[in-house]
Amino acid sequence: MELLKIAVVGSGPNGLTAAARLAAAGHRVVVFEGQEDPGGSARSMPLLGEGSVVDVGAAAHPFGIRSPAFEQLKLEHWGIEWVHPDYPLAHPFEGSEAALLRDSLSQTSEALGMDAGMWGSVHRGVCDQIDSVLADVLTPMTRPPRHPLSLFQLGKYGFLSTSFLARRLFKTDEARALFAGSALHSMLPLGSPLSGAFGILFGALGMSGGWPMARGGSQSIVNALMRRFESDGGEVVCNRPIHDMRGLSDFDAVIFDVMPRDLLRIAGNRVSPRYAKPLSRWRHGIGVSKVDFLLDGPIPWSDPQVCRAGTVHIGGALQELEKAESDVHQGVMPSHPFVMVCQQHQADPTRLEGKSGNIVWSYAHVPFGYNGDVKRAIEDQIERFAPGFKKQIVKTAVTKPQTLSSMNPNLYGGDIAGGSLGGLQQVFRPRFGLHPYRCSKRGIYLCSSATPPGAGVHGMNGWNAAGQLLTDFRAR
Ligand SMILES: Cc1cc2nc3c(=O)[nH]c(=O)nc-3n(C[C@H](O)[C@H](O)[C@H](O)COP(=O)(O)OP(=O)(O)OC[C@H]3O[C@@H](n4cnc5c(N)ncnc54)[C@H](O)[C@@H]3O)c2cc1C
Repeated sequence: MELLKIAVVGSGPNGLTAAARLAAAGHRVVVFEGQEDPGGSARSMPLLGEGSVVDVGAAAHPFGIRSPAFEQLKLEHWGIEWVHPDYPLAHPFEGSEAALLRDSLSQTSEALGMDAGMWGSVHRGVCDQIDSVLADVLTPMTRPPRHPLSLFQLGKYGFLSTSFLARRLFKTDEARALFAGSALHSMLPLGSPLSGAFGILFGALGMSGGWPMARGGSQSIVNALMRRFESDGGEVVCNRPIHDMRGLSDFDAVIFDVMPRDLLRIAGNRVSPRYAKPLSRWRHGIGVSKVDFLLDGPIPWSDPQVCRAGTVHIGGALQELEKAESDVHQGVMPSHPFVMVCQQHQADPTRLEGKSGNIVWSYAHVPFGYNGDVKRAIEDQIERFAPGFKKQIVKTAVTKPQTLSSMNPNLYGGDIAGGSLGGLQQVFRPRFGLHPYRCSKRGIYLCSSATPPGAGVHGMNGWNAAGQLLTDFRAR
């Protein structure tokens, strides 16, 4: 194949992974990033003062540690170090012990009392065959599965809704809430069909490889990608938002790490009409509103075991989670929202080097575009399960959906999933068809989280889009 000159618009993990794959294949690749620094939602910044390392977006990496793209790029040689908390996940309750996701299926099941057997049955097939399941889940679902029997392990329960599965299969509040909290990473309503698959998959990832953090902040994933890319001659140009394609006419191909509406605005009629039409109807999901805390000590959880978990799901029992999420999906901000907390310091003491205290990352699920104040609601929710928490707050950094999208246009309305996973958008991202990444025959590709396999720091959208580009140009 001739040597190509390729532009990548956007330097999130997907843009950088696409760029790194193409540069490694010998092509001349330039990445254009609109912000001052590369990395998109995998950046870390000193939001809580000098020396603080705060993950601006992604915090825990159940997919990152198992990403086939990161493995192929050998990112561990380029500086990523995954660090594991004692427990991947805790789900606290008022007045009783927390439910814990541990790093093995047997230990997690054993602690779930009368749900032990059922927890094992639901998750065992996926835990045992996690690499085969991921090989299919991380590629477009419109292609024939490579491991249909493994995928069946996920699908046999996963096509049902989380609410149905949690009630039907489990008897205890602990197992129900642990399962539902994992499913909420999909940002789908708990009553939505297929949402159960996320509960099973996230749980199985935690019980087979953990939900680690990246030592030094998620930024170190970006740094590793950058080092890998630059070692192959790649170039990243920051402070260069791309508003139209005229400036890119020198390039043989362009890969966009942007949302569908931005692709249509930038590329206009260069995108084929068959691709453009469904993109113009792209639906965004709910949003998140983020608060990072500098505390003068660890969170005083009522159940001290929760201190040892990396991620904590706050929202109480299943019924409460269902109510909060149903409100959010109807555009109403609940008083007791679902809150995700990450205690990175549990595994990574480098987040506040040389200083006392610790950093706690959190966000609440909010209606799409909701810019009201949720700091109080998040603090109240944590305080319920950790009395005395508020007294420990030294400093906070609030990042509402509006700020998220001004820092990164891909976070439109606070939607961190690159578009709703509801309805057909879960399977057909961004459209129905066998070639989801190719936007036209004129060398235009999309690789953001609006393409398969969706959101998460795993780089697979970028990896797959770059693969499609290479296949197309070889065929030419
Ligand atoms: C608050 C939050 C929490 C999250 N938590 C997790 C988590 O714990 N674990 C996990 O795996 N994932 C998490 N995610 C999701 C994950 O971060 C994203 O799915 C992932 O970063 C998507 O990568 P991407 O490359 O597609 O896009 P992004 O990371 O969004 O990067 C897109 C980049 O493109 C740039 N860009 C966009 N338009 C243009 C343009 N026109 N010109 C030039 N540059 C442009 C943007 O500035 C940005 O740098 C979280 C995200 C957020 C925001």
